[in-house]
Amino acid sequence: MNALNYLLIKEAQYDCPFCDENHLIQIRKRMTKSLVKNEPVEYEQIYYYCAVEDEEFMPSKVMDKNLLKARNEYRKKKGLLSSGGIKEIRINYCLTQKEFSNLLGWGDVTIQRYENKLIQDETYDNLIKMVAENPSFALKLLDKHKEMFQGDRYLEIRGIIKSKIKEKGNYFLKVQQISNYYIDFEEKSDLNGYKILDIEKINNVLSYFAKYINPYKVKMMKLLWYTDALNFKKFGVSMTGLVYQHLPMGAVPLGYNEILSLPSIKIEEEYIKDYIGYKIYPNKEVNLSSFSLEELNILQSVANFFKNKNTEEVVEYMHNEAAYIETNSNQIIPYSLAQQVKEFKI
Ligand SMILES: [Zn+2]
Repeated sequence: MNALNYLLIKEAQYDCPFCDENHLIQIRKRMTKSLVKNEPVEYEQIYYYCAVEDEEFMPSKVMDKNLLKARNEYRKKKGLLSSGGIKEIRINYCLTQKEFSNLLGWGDVTIQRYENKLIQDETYDNLIKMVAENPSFALKLLDKHKEMFQGDRYLEIRGIIKSKIKEKGNYFLKVQQISNYYIDFEEKSDLNGYKILDIEKINNVLSYFAKYINPYKVKMMKLLWYTDALNFKKFGVSMTGLVYQHLPMGAVPLGYNEILSLPSIKIEEEYIKDYIGYKIYPNKEVNLSSFSLEELNILQSVANFFKNKNTEEVVEYMHNEAAYIETNSNQIIPYSLAQQVKEFKI
């Protein structure tokens, strides 16, 4: 027997165009090749199947969906924003499709078309990307096309864009501050785990642990170190490029205060009996696709192992690592010692 070349999504009652009656049909998907603008693309196509007549068909809504998928595949190939990507940028500025079009100086329905099917030209694509990356540029465009907006709404949108400018400014400032701590670690070495500091990766690792563990500050430091140590042990490089110092509570990355104020997480004060704890929560959805499968495995095993240990237990555990025992107070912990990190035994 041949292997199936499709996957059954589900069965559903449907007005079958072949039998001319309402009966159970199969909704399936399969990989299909097609041409978009003379470019071959492969995408996951959805179709309906009538077992009575052994025929397949596609309702027009499904056909539209498939077309969008094929076109998004083309966009991906050409480095253009996907329809979903364009929508995300628009939503980030809290704009309707018409407003986003007008801000860019285009016809009312241009963005609606790009979000639904039409593929944008490269020049249009570039303009949208610039607006996404640079809110100051968005503000200039808004002012340039001011007459397209009603007075109140114009001021409202201006306020939203200005808050994005501040957000971005704060982020650059944080990145600058963190980078200053790493000025002497610009080369790959045993001290940064043969990886140059990757602040975007740190952002993502922080939001991962914030989401799945809600650790306190000190525990978060240890989670970072174990993530980098395990990654180094397995692949010979750290995951984030962070440099860790031997402090009384264990390994702590240089610039930890600035690192903990990165925008992917937020810290909330918690009163526990006589003292204040600083618990860490995610500030936005974790972007899991930014991690490789190997990285996700490591994050998962660190999260699982330390999930139910409190801060004291984690610090105590770290104190038994060669990385701690064999270094002195305030010394930078070389990754060659991190490599001796103990196997997790639950
Ligand atoms: Zn039928």
